[in-house]
Amino acid sequence: MTRLVLLLLTGLLLPAAPATAAEPPAAWGPLSFLEREIAPGEKRKFSYQLSRTFEGSFLDTAVFVARGQRAGPTLCLTAMIHGDERNGFEIAREVFATTDATRLAGTLIALPAANVHGFRTGSRYMPDRRDLNRAFPGSGSSNTALVASIIFAGLREQCAVLVDLHTGSFERANLPQVRVDLANPHALDLARHFGAAVVLGGAGPKGSLRRELMDAGIPAIIYEAGLPLRFEPQEIAAGVQGTRNVMIRLGMTTGNATAPTPPDRVFSRSGWARVPVGQGGVFYPARELGAEVRRGDVIARIYEPFTDERFEVSAPLDGYIVGMAVPQVVFSGYALVHIAQP
Ligand SMILES: [Zn+2]
Repeated sequence: MTRLVLLLLTGLLLPAAPATAAEPPAAWGPLSFLEREIAPGEKRKFSYQLSRTFEGSFLDTAVFVARGQRAGPTLCLTAMIHGDERNGFEIAREVFATTDATRLAGTLIALPAANVHGFRTGSRYMPDRRDLNRAFPGSGSSNTALVASIIFAGLREQCAVLVDLHTGSFERANLPQVRVDLANPHALDLARHFGAAVVLGGAGPKGSLRRELMDAGIPAIIYEAGLPLRFEPQEIAAGVQGTRNVMIRLGMTTGNATAPTPPDRVFSRSGWARVPVGQGGVFYPARELGAEVRRGDVIARIYEPFTDERFEVSAPLDGYIVGMAVPQVVFSGYALVHIAQP
């Protein structure tokens, strides 16, 4: 009681700040995040409890934080929001491992395995079979919505910029590419400076982390590269370099950035070549990721196993192949080849 009175009195005795004085810039100091304090120049890895799973164990997610020695922006990296998309885990891990907090300006926050359950089981989805990347900002009572709301609140509070790391879904591979809402100049600038072969425009689906953070005013880009369920060294290396390029662009670190994506490799539209109606069989691509194609070019072949018939699939438009299914059995209407259109 006495202590409280003393505190109150002390408060009353302190001279009030002049109301007209300009607010001084906040001093750079430790970061308070998820009930931890990370000092300038310090790197921390910890596990954060998101929610209790149905069997009573905890669903934890790893959080990596590097607090720079000097003031600067906060770059957030998220990976494995789709729990089978593993390349992003290695990108986030490697970028964090090679970041020297004593030479960093700003803060690097990485969630290398946002969907921990999916990482453990190789599933794209959450334990309740929902897609975490359609659940942001997180409302409702589902387990996925709860996890989404906790992740979203933390990121919205901290991030100046988000890089979200993905791969193709299921049996499809993506040419390393960055996806961004072309209407946002800051996000587009970062997307181009990532330095991927291709930048593909689009706002992203409602409920995706990128779209919802953009709507909350935070520039957000996606790096998409390779296949799910694999660790692919080339795609990972390009993602690590691209993230470094973004950090250099943001003034967080120094170094030699690779060249930005040239303007003629920034595409606003794309389309899919699909299995023609009523056809199907064993699919083989006839062209490679990154190939330039003209409308009508043969880009794939399908072998019908009973009749031994061979179907050719042609490009529905001019452009560049930015995504493609791997050889597999395919059915009528299945999306085979993704073509970005100039
Ligand atoms: Zn994904």
